[in-house]
Amino acid sequence: MKSILPGATVGVLGSGQLGRMFAIAARRMGYRVHTYSSKSDTPTGQLCDREVCASYDDLDAVRDFARGVDVVTFEFENVPAATVEACAEFGPVRPGWNVLYVAQNRLREKTFLSQNGFPVAPFRVVNSRDDLENALREIGTPSVLKTAGFGYDGKGQTKINAAADAENAWANLGGQEGVLEGWIPFEREVSVVAARGVDGTFAHFGVVENEHANHILDVTIAPANISSKIAVDAIEITRGVLEKLDVVGVLCVEFFLKADGELIINELAPRPHNSGHWTFDACVTSQFEQQLRAVCALPLGSTEQIRPAAMSNLLGDLWQDGEPDWEAALRFPDVKLHLYGKSRAVPGRKMGHLTAFANTPQEAADIARKARAALTKNQQ
Ligand code: AMP
Repeated sequence: MKSILPGATVGVLGSGQLGRMFAIAARRMGYRVHTYSSKSDTPTGQLCDREVCASYDDLDAVRDFARGVDVVTFEFENVPAATVEACAEFGPVRPGWNVLYVAQNRLREKTFLSQNGFPVAPFRVVNSRDDLENALREIGTPSVLKTAGFGYDGKGQTKINAAADAENAWANLGGQEGVLEGWIPFEREVSVVAARGVDGTFAHFGVVENEHANHILDVTIAPANISSKIAVDAIEITRGVLEKLDVVGVLCVEFFLKADGELIINELAPRPHNSGHWTFDACVTSQFEQQLRAVCALPLGSTEQIRPAAMSNLLGDLWQDGEPDWEAALRFPDVKLHLYGKSRAVPGRKMGHLTAFANTPQEAADIARKARAALTKNQQ
């Protein structure tokens, strides 16, 4: 496979913070970066040589974009098939459409995983009120009804604690295709970010622990405080998923970890992931550089972690009473500040993150939380 070398141009579909950090890694290595999305002045576009603002359905604009780059990748996986096909007329698209097709839709994802022997929560497709009744009879409560497509950060989900909640859950689905999923009484949530090169080499960033608030990732602790047996299990499941899907690039597997050590896959993200942001500062090769290496058919880099680390997300809520006090966070010498260049702070919107280092992952998590709290201390 021909390598795409520094000096070449990488095209990114999507324009959020993942593309921004990818662009930073790519530019550092001497690549040019173009981004394509329906928005302008975007987190990715601010760092790119070219920011194309057009609809994913505008195939003329997509072709024009693809003609100007040497390889196309994604930072946003919900791109239509026709867009990917149009890009593929001009050069490689990595990861391929097969990966996006599976990861775009919960039903396809869970079907793929269960058919290949990977552990998932029991699930049933829900296309009608009757389907929901039958699914509830088979799976029982508690369970959770989710939209099959386009869901993230808990959007489009309704928990069903008892049969009486079914009506409300059905209404929330709003006529979209749904998946009823058994509720997993998990002890913790963990994830593995990993990469696979064009030659099939596999590299992972270990297992990290994720704490959520309001369904949104809040803090990641790296590495997770789990037994080596569970860590090996999670990594081997991840390796299997990347191989079965024939992924070229970075993919994150999010897991529920039960008290008895059982791992259940919650979902896949076929790209760099929020739970891997800490790698930007704490690893020899970050998840973003690894994505670049994989999609450019280069050797993967070392994923060695230099120090225990933790990441805290900075959501738009922190701006409620004005601009956060950046100096207060920067007084913590082992904290790195990342801001994504978004001009409008909206509650729940990911605006940036902090990465903290310490001698243990737990201490790093304490510092990441404290530094974040310091951002708004003087506003109260
Ligand atoms: P998701 O958008 O599917 O990643 O779900 C967001 C969050 O909802 C997860 O991180 C869990 O905290 C919770 N959740 C989703 N599905 C389940 C489930 N089947 N059992 C328990 N908790 C769940």
